[in-house]
Amino acid sequence: NKATLFDQTEGAPITFEDVAGLDEAKEEVEEVVQFLKDPQRFTKLGGKLPKGVLLVGPPGTGKTLLAKAVAGEAGVPFFSLSGSDFVEMFVGVGAARVRDLFKQAKEKAPCIIFIDEIDAVGRSRGRGAIMGGNDERENTLNQLLVEMDGFNTDKGVILMAATNRPDTLDSALLRPGRFDRQILIDRPDRRERAAIFRVHTENLTLSPDLDVELLAGQTPGFAGAEIANVCNEAALLAARDGKDAVEMIDFERAIDRVIGGLEKKNKLISPDE
Ligand code: ATP
Repeated sequence: NKATLFDQTEGAPITFEDVAGLDEAKEEVEEVVQFLKDPQRFTKLGGKLPKGVLLVGPPGTGKTLLAKAVAGEAGVPFFSLSGSDFVEMFVGVGAARVRDLFKQAKEKAPCIIFIDEIDAVGRSRGRGAIMGGNDERENTLNQLLVEMDGFNTDKGVILMAATNRPDTLDSALLRPGRFDRQILIDRPDRRERAAIFRVHTENLTLSPDLDVELLAGQTPGFAGAEIANVCNEAALLAARDGKDAVEMIDFERAIDRVIGGLEKKNKLISPDE
């Protein structure tokens, strides 16, 4: 599987409106949007933009969504690849894939390259040696570093990456001229959860009793992905009962289900992995 190209210039692009909350993060990436819209305007004055923006935060908090929205707002293509795609690959394949990704991106510039779970490939070199079979990952990481050094932002390519384990990243990745900007994407607070509920109930037929503020209060600790899940589940439950609109009680049942699912997951996964 090659790098997936999502052409955000086609169809309905994802925009900042689809991303609820995360106001500070949106403000920080706005500069990237302006740059991608008109790279020359920035480079003319001699300013240098960050090559790489690292989005740091727990799973499901909207890191991928935000990166897609940057591409959507700027109207540029979005190339995406997951770090885990590089794991357990044959010799040379990972590095070749990185080379190919940058080559494709340069041809389509201005554009965004997004690497999800960058920790899978960007883990500190040498640390995993006891596990065996890490040379290939290191080759891939080295190739990524080479590619990052080999282009400048004048070409109009911005690299974005996401991780929930910034502590494990090789320090070479975080050096100036590489991922020199980090943006924290935290779990939503109550106000932000209400906003996420609003986004994900927009296309549902809702009963008048629906109160997103109340739902936000019932979902402490939920990430955006879980809230999206609750909204969908609620709509399915209501439909299954033959209702014409999704009611508060459906959301409450859906919340219970999602909490149940999370508890099961926590039991199965040891805190270490
Ligand atoms: P991971 O680290 O697991 O890849 P992520 O941080 O990249 O997670 P996304 O894939 O962006 O999370 O989020 C998953 C889904 O959750 C999104 O497609 C969206 O439906 C919903 N979601 C998450 N955060 C938000 C948000 N702030 N506003 C609206 N929807 C959100």
